[in-house]
Parts: sequence; structure tokens; C-alpha cells
Amino acid sequence: MNNNITVTSPLLPNLDEFNEMLREIWASKWITNNGAFHKRLEAALAEYLKVPYISLFTNGTLPLLTALQALRITGEVITTPYSFVATTHSIWWNGCKPVFVDIEEDTCGIDPNKIEAAITPKTTAIMPVHCYGKPVKMDAIQAIADKYGLKVIYDAAHAFGVEVNGESVLNRGDMSTLSFHATKVYNTLEGGALVVHDEKTKRRIDYLKNFGFAGETEVVAPGINSKMDEVRAAYGLLNLKQVDAAIEARHQVAIKYREALRDVPGIRFFDDMPGVRHNYSYFPIFINAEEYGKTRDQLYLEMKEKNVLGRRYFFPLISTFSTYRGLPSAAPENLPVATKVANEVICLPMHHILSDDDINRILELVVK
Ligand SMILES: *Cc1c(COP(=O)(O)O)cnc(C)c1O
Repeated sequence: MNNNITVTSPLLPNLDEFNEMLREIWASKWITNNGAFHKRLEAALAEYLKVPYISLFTNGTLPLLTALQALRITGEVITTPYSFVATTHSIWWNGCKPVFVDIEEDTCGIDPNKIEAAITPKTTAIMPVHCYGKPVKMDAIQAIADKYGLKVIYDAAHAFGVEVNGESVLNRGDMSTLSFHATKVYNTLEGGALVVHDEKTKRRIDYLKNFGFAGETEVVAPGINSKMDEVRAAYGLLNLKQVDAAIEARHQVAIKYREALRDVPGIRFFDDMPGVRHNYSYFPIFINAEEYGKTRDQLYLEMKEKNVLGRRYFFPLISTFSTYRGLPSAAPENLPVATKVANEVICLPMHHILSDDDINRILELVVK
């Protein structure tokens, strides 16, 4: 018997409704290249996310690569090591040098106070991450970017639907990227998107994700292939109808976790931020081993033994992987907060169909 409680569970559309859409696609014989469902999903997502222009992709990594291409980023790009590895890989794939800056403990996002010291004449961009969907300090980051003439590309893979005072975080910086991977709050099986602020840039992105084709015979840039197909766009339309309910179900899980963990010594977690619409994409807890009485890894392994599969997002830090650890900015002394947090974190299971029994099983292991 499989009684695993996994860290997440994908949001799945109603199969009958999906079948109906598949019939439409079969009948149309149009399965990719900006088809009817692709157009519908772009429009629906722009409206839902309150953004003017969005371009769909096959996953959440290609919009990162494409954003750097589109903005012609060169030289050095400032980012944090506390993220999924794709963030830094996208900088590397563009032939740029990642420069790691430490995070702050209260958001797990880049610490704006440490950015200026990392800027050199070669710096051209900052790539912050809205880690766990918690908005980073966007005003402070933009002020630095403006002062030094840098581009800002947000990796907003975790920040689907996140708003500050009614405004989407995706409208900040030069561009923001989204991931619609199965493990995210909103998925299209695999998928992703790039959010931009004007029509001309949207057109350029659409060329770049289709080999650079600007017409039947004209190629205007060295593009790539990262278009979303009709099947996934249809699936995405159906999931969009139920994503608000899924976010609310996650919210209820967060409320229960917080209530149970509030007075447990040695456990830190995040409360909602004032004015922010959260998406409850993850529920990280941070273990202070001395106060809690055991280390993060002890708890992690005890949970695993009982088939409760938390995940150590984000451990190890990207800066420790072989490609990056030789960089001067990868030294642990440069990244004290990220290093500490990476050793303290476990993401508890968090999804829209986590039952009360599941939650109790998890809490029995965590609350001592
Ligand atoms: C998931 C994720 C990505 C990559 O998205 P894919 O859709 O898996 O390619 C990039 N950045 C962050 C922070 C992520 O969590």
C-alpha cells in the first residue's frame, strides 16, 4: 500500500471536459503554432493575472533563457543561490557570469542592501526570485537598477497570482517569468510564460520562441523553439477555472499548520504579509536545531521513514554545485544567510487535496 504524503499534488482538470476539448483540437487538425486554444489561454491568463502582455512557453526555464536573450544581457548578472537551479543555469546558458548575492531571512529573496557591493562595470542585470511566492523588496531593487542602468528580470516561477495592494508582482521590473510545471500552484502539465509590458516586446518574444520567424520567410533573430501546444493550452484553460479554489484550499492548510506550529520552540514559519494576495505555493518551516532539539535532517529523515515526504527546498544552494562553486561570489562567507536557511528549511506537504488526516499525520511528526 502506498500511504505516502507527497510535498505536492498536481491540479488536474476534469477529464470529461478535457476530452471534449481534445475532440475540438482533433477536429481542427491544428495542434501547435499559435492555435485557437493558445490564443484563448494567453488572453485568459493576461486577464486573470492582471498583466497587459503574456507569452506562453513549453516550460518555465525557456522564458528565463529568452528574457535574457531579448534584453541582450551580457557580462555579469546578479542573482541568489537560494532558488531552483534553473535560475542560475539560464544565466550560464546565455554565456553570462552569475554573481551570487545573499538573501534576507524574512523573505528568502535577494537582500537589496547587499546588491550594490556586487555591482561591477560588467553588471547588466539583476535576476531576483520571488521565493515561495513571497514578493521580494521590489522598490529597493528597482531603485538600484535605475541608479546603475541595470535590467531586472524576475523569476516569478512561484508567484502565480501573487499581488501587492491589488497589483500583480508580474508588472514590476523589465520582465517576469512563470512556470506551469506539475509541481506549481497552476500547471499546464509542463509549461511556462514570460510577462512583458508592451506590445513591441511581446512581438519580439513571440518571434524568439518560434526560431526568430517574423513571417513565412523572414528570420529576424537567433530564436529557439519553446512554443506551447494546443493540448496543453486547453488543459491550462480548464485548470485556470479551478485555480482560485485550489489556492483557497491551500490557504486553509496554511491556517491549520500555523495554528499548530505557532508555539513550537525552534520552528519558524511565514505569516501572511500585509496587503499581499498569497498563493500558498509552499509551506517552508525553518528548524533551529538547538531550540527544537533535533536537526532539520533528523526531522526530515523521521518524516521520510513515516512516508511523509517533505522537501528541502532549497538545499543544497545553487552556489555549491560543481559548475558554480569556483565563482568568487559562491564562497559561503559571501552567503551566510542563504547558507543558514538552506540548512534549516523543510517544505511541508502543501496542496489543494491535503486532508485533515494527512495534516494530523504530518503535525504529529513535527510537533513534539
Ligand atoms: C520550477 C522553477 C523553474 C523552472 O520551471 P520549469 O517549468 O520546471 O522549467 C524556474 N525557477 C524556479 C524558481 C522554479 O521553482
